[in-house]
Amino acid sequence: KSFEDFNLKRELLMGIFEAGFEKPSPIQEESIPMALAGRDILARAKNGTGKTASFVIPCLQLIKPKVNKIQALILVPTRELALQTSQVVRTLGKHLGLQCMVTTGGTSLRDDIVRLDDVVHVLVGTPGRILDLAARSVADLSACPLFVMDEADKMLSREFRRIIEQILSFFPEKRQSLLFSATFPLTVKSFMDSHLNKPYEINL
Ligand code: AMP
Repeated sequence: KSFEDFNLKRELLMGIFEAGFEKPSPIQEESIPMALAGRDILARAKNGTGKTASFVIPCLQLIKPKVNKIQALILVPTRELALQTSQVVRTLGKHLGLQCMVTTGGTSLRDDIVRLDDVVHVLVGTPGRILDLAARSVADLSACPLFVMDEADKMLSREFRRIIEQILSFFPEKRQSLLFSATFPLTVKSFMDSHLNKPYEINL
């Protein structure tokens, strides 16, 4: 298998190869075609497997740069992971002309409001701040087709579930969800059963 087999946009392939990726890792081989086919995904994958690119690549392929709306929300549990994830979005998406914004608790809300007045295609952040921005109608998720959650086990164990469900209430009914989790506790299973649509499950 090679990245060329996925029918990706040329500009995206360039970003992937410039990042030094030669061929898809096992999780990418499974998740990229399924996500591009529109399936919800639940993937059990640890750090170091290439899991970040396995959701970033489909997001970058599916987003339309000419549409000036948030088209993917990536929720992560920590500021550090938010910054790392946005770095992957920027590196792989370098030639796509997309805007990625990161926001987490503890940063200036006023700055976020100003930044969201500009074009943002990908929003990466932690649940509390994202909910705040969505509830104030600063971040418009009403036409956002992609919902991604990384380290779902960590987020759902920290009483974030209610916050995450409130965030989801701002999404359109018809959306695609990509969930990544190192472990698969009951909290994740129950969230999956309630909010994912016939997810394709990946176990690595
Ligand atoms: P992750 O599991 O997302 O934290 O990624 C772990 C590391 O693997 C990161 O440094 C990535 O840049 C790298 N990586 C991800 N996918 C590939 C790939 N297909 N080929 C080579 N390196 C990769």
